[in-house]
Amino acid sequence: YYDQNTILYLNGQYLKATEASTDLYGQSLHYGYAVFEGIRAYKTAKGEVKIFKAKEHFDRFKRSCELIHIPYPFNNDELIEACYEVLRRNNMEEAYIRPLAFCPPNMTLKAASETEVLICAWEWGAYLGEKLLRVATSSYQRPNPKAFKIESKSAGLYVNSILASQEAKEKGYDEALLLDMNGYVAEGPGANVFFEKDGKIFTPPPGNILPGITRATVIELCKELNIPIEEKLFTIEELRTADSVFYCGTAAEVVGWDSLDGQGFAKPWADSLGKYLQKAYKARVLEQEFTEKYQPKSAAVV
Ligand code: PMP
Repeated sequence: YYDQNTILYLNGQYLKATEASTDLYGQSLHYGYAVFEGIRAYKTAKGEVKIFKAKEHFDRFKRSCELIHIPYPFNNDELIEACYEVLRRNNMEEAYIRPLAFCPPNMTLKAASETEVLICAWEWGAYLGEKLLRVATSSYQRPNPKAFKIESKSAGLYVNSILASQEAKEKGYDEALLLDMNGYVAEGPGANVFFEKDGKIFTPPPGNILPGITRATVIELCKELNIPIEEKLFTIEELRTADSVFYCGTAAEVVGWDSLDGQGFAKPWADSLGKYLQKAYKARVLEQEFTEKYQPKSAAVV
């Protein structure tokens, strides 16, 4: 993620990653009481470096802090500018950007009164790889919204994600799928889920999931491309009968599923609405025109 020359932003200063330091008595380190974002910068079709949906990510960064009472004394325009400066100082064009809001030394369980902010960046290929994913239903549920502010992208919440993805990998799968506390399909450890059935796209509604910015972009694209889209709760049994399924997230982008618990889907990924949306998403982040028409092929013909 970094080497001798990497520069990061810490509390208003640009420092060498190897020289920056933090306090080992920090509340964030001990209790997972911190908030982060995951953002991507792309080199657009015109050759400019652009951070995709920077405002939306920093709006969520602020909301995530507020939801768990981490003070937010930052100006988002300044933080966005700091992201661009980190990219410039590291000569990066396409990169993953990681802002982190964390709290100073404090061993109590009282809400923080001060916040520090880090922004670092690294070059990161497709987070879940380029291949279709073999997904396993997790034995772990997503955290109960009555036990946590699940819409806050809080560090501590990611222990749940680590447990679920580790379990899936130990069983020989690529990634996990987690259900919510009521047994409905929720999301992946680091991505939102969508499926296609009879020419329509479905995804779980907000409530028990992280409101993903890629999810919002995919919904926007469906509307623009006249693909019917519905947010609804659904079960794992319904998902097994999908024509195609995909995950989406900033790090993962749009990535198709090969199978769920070893069972494949009706449509080949190449013919799916997910594949079409994957191309539309890529065009959107690169600011390329997207004129391709979807050529539906009936699942029955396959
Ligand atoms: N759900 C979870 C649990 C995540 O960690 C992520 C990644 N941030 C997402 C969904 C997708 O969110 P986004 O599209 O904003 O990256």
